[in-house]
Amino acid sequence: MDLRYLAKLYKSEMDLLARERRQHPPQEILVPMKFPLSIPKVKSEILEVKKDDWVVRQVKEKSWKGHILHPFDVSQMRKDFLSLKHQKSELLTFLNKYGWWGSDEPIPVSDFWELQELILTALCLGPKGRGQLLSRRMFKGLPGPLSVQFVASFQYEDGKPKFVIETEGCMHALVASVQIDLAQERKYRHCARPGCEEIFEVKKREKTHHSPHCQTLHAMQRYRDRKRQRMAKIKGRKARVE
Ligand SMILES: [Zn+2]
Repeated sequence: MDLRYLAKLYKSEMDLLARERRQHPPQEILVPMKFPLSIPKVKSEILEVKKDDWVVRQVKEKSWKGHILHPFDVSQMRKDFLSLKHQKSELLTFLNKYGWWGSDEPIPVSDFWELQELILTALCLGPKGRGQLLSRRMFKGLPGPLSVQFVASFQYEDGKPKFVIETEGCMHALVASVQIDLAQERKYRHCARPGCEEIFEVKKREKTHHSPHCQTLHAMQRYRDRKRQRMAKIKGRKARVE
C-alpha cells in the first residue's frame, strides 16, 4: 500500500478524533475526594542478589493478620522516608514500621533512593512542574515519572457523594501525598544552608531555613567565611608590601 495514502488516512482519523474531543470534552465536577491511607504490615528483608546489587523482598502474612489495613499519618511517613540516609538498615526500619511497599516482585534498593530524590525535587517545584511529574500525560502523551494510576470508587457517606481513592502501599501513599499537597496548593522550599538536605513547607514567604537552629548555623558559617576572606585579603596585602 502507498505510504502517502496511509499517512493521509491516519491524519484524517486523527483530525476526526480531535474534532470529537472538542465536541465532547470530559465533564468536570467538584466532589470531595477521600484518600483512606492504610497499609498491611509485612515482613521485609534486604538481600544481595549480585555483588552490590541489593533488593527488598516483602512477604505478606498468609493468615487473616496479613489482610488488616493499618491507618497511619502520611505526612509523618513522608518525612521519615525523605530523611532516610541511603542506608539499608534505615530503609528496613522504615519498611518494618509502615509495611507493604506495593510489589510482589523484589524491589531494587536503588529504586527507593530514586523515588526519594524525585519526591524531594517535585515538592520544591512550582505547581506546573509538579503537575507534569505527577500527570499521566506529561509530555506528548507520556506519563510523568511520578504518575500512578489509582482506582477511585464512588461512595455515599454522611449524606454526601464522595470519590474514594484506594492506595495499595507505601509507594502509592507517598505519591498520593504529593498529589494532595498540589491540590491544596502547599509550597515547599529547600533549606538555604549549604549542605542541609531538609525541605520545609513555606507558610511565611520570608522563611529561608528549615529550623531556627539551621539558620543560626548558616549565619555562623557565613561569619566564618567572611572572616576567612578578610584574613586572606590582609595576608595578600602584607605579602605585596614585603
Ligand atoms: Zn536546614
